[in-house]
Amino acid sequence: MRLMRRFGVAEKSDRPYECKRCETAFSVQYQVCPECGSYSVERDEWD
Ligand SMILES: [Zn+2]
Repeated sequence: MRLMRRFGVAEKSDRPYECKRCETAFSVQYQVCPECGSYSVERDEWD
C-alpha cells in the first residue's frame, strides 16, 4: 500500500476505497457510505 503511493500510481492511488453499491471512490474508509448509506465501502483490490 505504502509502496503503491511511492510509485505514484495514477487513477485510484489516492482513493483506494470504493462503495460497492454506488461506486463512489474515497480516500479514506467510511463505515457507512456518505453518498448512499451503504455499509459496503471496501478497499479496492488493485494490489
Ligand atoms: Zn455508496
